[in-house]
Parts: sequence; C-alpha cells; structure tokens
Amino acid sequence: MYYVSTRNKNDRHTASEAIAHGLAADGGLMTPEVLPNLSHNALDTMRDMSYQQRAVYVMNAYLDDFTSSELSVYTTKAYGGGKFDTREVAPVRGVDANTYCLELWHGPTCAFKDMALQMLPHLLTASLVKNQEEKTACILVATSGDTGKAALEGFRDVDKTRILVFYPKDGVSAIQQLQMNTQEGTNVGVCSVVGNFDDAQTGVKRLFSDETLRQELAGRGYFFSSANSINWGRVLPQIVYYISAYCDLMREEKIQKGDLVNVCVPTGNFGNILAAYYAKQMGVPIGRLICASNRNDVLTDFLNTGVYDRNRTFYNTMSPSMDILISSNLERLLFALSGQNDEEVRTYMTQLSETGRYEVSPAIRSKLDKLFAAGCCDDEQTARTIGRMWREHHYLIDPHTAVAFDVLEQYRSKTGDQTPTIVVSTASPFKFCDNVLRAIGVNDLAQGTDILDQLAEQSGVPVPAPLAALKEKPIRFADTVDKDHMADRVLEMLH
Ligand SMILES: *Cc1c(COP(=O)(O)O)cnc(C)c1O
Repeated sequence: MYYVSTRNKNDRHTASEAIAHGLAADGGLMTPEVLPNLSHNALDTMRDMSYQQRAVYVMNAYLDDFTSSELSVYTTKAYGGGKFDTREVAPVRGVDANTYCLELWHGPTCAFKDMALQMLPHLLTASLVKNQEEKTACILVATSGDTGKAALEGFRDVDKTRILVFYPKDGVSAIQQLQMNTQEGTNVGVCSVVGNFDDAQTGVKRLFSDETLRQELAGRGYFFSSANSINWGRVLPQIVYYISAYCDLMREEKIQKGDLVNVCVPTGNFGNILAAYYAKQMGVPIGRLICASNRNDVLTDFLNTGVYDRNRTFYNTMSPSMDILISSNLERLLFALSGQNDEEVRTYMTQLSETGRYEVSPAIRSKLDKLFAAGCCDDEQTARTIGRMWREHHYLIDPHTAVAFDVLEQYRSKTGDQTPTIVVSTASPFKFCDNVLRAIGVNDLAQGTDILDQLAEQSGVPVPAPLAALKEKPIRFADTVDKDHMADRVLEMLH
C-alpha cells in the first residue's frame, strides 16, 4: 500500500517514507491511497486478543514495509510493561444502558495523546533506519500543554532521538508545567519561552526553517523532525482503539457483531474523530460520527453548513486542547470525500490560507450530512455536565470529555436516536482539578499539587500514579528563553 499527498496524488511513498517525512513536500498530508478492509471474521479474531495484539493486527494492514514481529516489539514497548495503569490499555466503561465511555487517559501522562505518542517514536525511528537515515532525529515541539509532556514521555530514552520542548511561560497550567519540568530521560530538554503559545509556536517554526542552524546541526549529526499530529504515525495508532472498543463491547455481549454504534468525540485538530472515520470505512459497524466542540465552534458550523470559516473570535476555554480554529486533519477527510480529488483539496486549502474560508461542493456536503452530526457547548454547560455526570452516575470526567457528553445529550434530544454510543474520554479529570472541583461544588481550592489530594478526597477516586509522583520528583528544567534566542538553546542541548 502506498501513501499519497492530499494535494498531489502522484506524490507516492511507502509507509516508512510517509512517517519519516511527516508532511508531504507540497504541504499536503500523507494519506493511504486505499483503506484496507477488515476481513469477514476480523472482529471475531480480534475479540479475544489483548490490546497490543489488536494494535499489531490493525497496523499491519497499513504498514507494508514493517513485519508483524517488528510491530509486536513496538506495541509491547508502547502499551505493555506497566506503562498504562490498566491491562486493557483503553478500557470501555458502561455509563448507562446505551452509553459507553472509552477512556484514553490511562497512559503515562494521563492524556489521550499517549495513545499515539507512545507508538510514534518506534514507528519513526524504524522508518528512519528503513530509509538509511543515519543522523539522530531532533524532535522540536511547541506545546500548549498536553502534547509536550506526552511527546517527552514517548521519546524519552528512545535511541537515535533527542527531544526539545518549548512551552509558553505563562500559558500552561501549574500541573502541566511541573509534569514537563520534572521530565526524566537522557535525551530530553524542556524550556519555557517568554510570551504566549503563538510566540512559542512561531519560534519553533522559525527553527525548522533556519538554514544556518540546519547546516550547523547536520555537521554535528542531527536533523530536525516533528511529532506533530499530522504525521501518519500519529493517526494510525488512533484507529486501533475504535476497533478495540467495538471488540470489547462484543466480548462483553453488550452488542452483537454487526450492531451499529455511534461515537461522540471531543474534537480539536480533527485527528481523533478522523481515526473513527477510518475505522468505519474499514468495516467497523459505526453509525454516526458525532463531532463535539467547545465555544470554538468552527467545526460545528462547518459540518452543519459546508462552510469552513476561521474568521471568528478565538476563545480560551476550560477545555484548552480543543481551542483551535484550524483543524489540520480535516484535510484528509476532504481528500477522501472528494473521491481523492487532489485539485479540489488544493483549491480549498489555498482559499483557507488566503481568505480563511472555503465552502465544500454539494457532493461533499451530502456525504458529510450522512456521516456526521455536530454540536458545541460553552464553559457553563461543560461545568454543569461534569456536575451532572458526577451526581447521576458517580462518574468523574474532565472538561474535554464533558463537552462530548453534553453534545451527545443535545444530539439525542434533537434526533431521538438511541443507538448505543461510545463517548471518547480524552483526559483524566486530575489534569484539570480546579475546574472539576468547582463543577462538583467545591470552591475553596487547595494550592499547588495539594489540589490533587483534594480532588481525590472529595471524589473517592485515587490520584493517578504519574500525577501523584510529581510531588517527589526533582525539577530538572527551569530555563526560560526569549523567543529570539531559541536557536541558542537548541545548539546548547545538541553540543
Ligand atoms: C488533543 C486533545 C483533544 C483534541 O483531539 P484532536 O485529535 O486534536 O481532535 C481533545 N481532548 C484532549 C484532552 C486533548 O489533549
């Protein structure tokens, strides 16, 4: 199977080339030319497998130039060996008679980014070897919180890689900052940047295009790479958990093979819900794909009207990982729904960069209507939903997950659709203690890491081990740079 650029179908690459390069030369996203179909008995076969075995089975169908035994090694490293706090890795929890919650935050950083970022380093380093790259990859990340920590933990002590994370000095939560500054590993670096997330991100983009720096580092045996969510190596591991969830529901006899289930996904960059779309196309009986947004409702409008328009106010919300106005992975959906019409995709993307807006064809519009439903919810509704889920189901959820539960409720009361639905839970509530505590009625909040214990006491749910351990960990990184001096920091680290 080959991978092609969403902006040029003639730009064809093997899986390992697609993963090694990350982005296509023309700025498009590398995407499978054909999607593999699950065989007639694939779901039965996977039903009794472990999560790691299911991951090998699914990824094998996409990665021609990797053997199953290579993939077994990676899945064991990524999801085995106590890295996740439950053997199921991505457990499905019953909420009520027809609602299930797929918990994707049992990994080392308590956020769903672990599902992909525990796997990507293995796929990436193997792809580099397969393509005769001998230099060490230096992964540069600008983060507003979750991605940075998950990438550090994923790349920590992985051979032939260094990772350097830049975060905005005043733009991440206290817990997120502590998670990054205490990061262990011999190949990691963390540094804050004076300014906001945009300053950090613009700075990192400038490093990627700094030719003098590139040459200097090439001389020292390094090249820059990215752990960005548009790399195919991040999308693929996400397809696995949708298939796995369906198999779990079959195994527990909640559904019969062939029964439809809807999925409801809290969405930002469109990577997670895109993976659900791919699982559906492969043959998993998924009904509606319900796209949930916070007050930044650009995707809600797009899915309801066919017009994507980023010209709108940006809001900071209590679900910050969904505060996004340009959802990059949508480009892959447009490629699929246009019948792989690269010229059409190119036109939309040009319009987006020039005017911030595009309108899809009636043909795409009608496909979107059949596949998706969409809704949004503001912070007040989000908090109410956290409170309601706690009171009614004794289930503690984080603000991102709450957005999805709220949107599902809206969808059900509007449509009457009672199809069993999997709500995707993307972060541990302990990553957002302050907002979660307030939402369950506690207003006198503890300071620093004591707030973790406060939430545990109030809820009776134990603090996840990786967060509880933060208190004992020494601070390893405390540097701050001005955004014009980020290159110096890179040179210092890669001496
Ligand atoms: C990244 C993230 C999301 C959004 O996922 P996308 O794949 O970007 O749509 C939602 N919730 C949390 C907690 C996240 O970290």
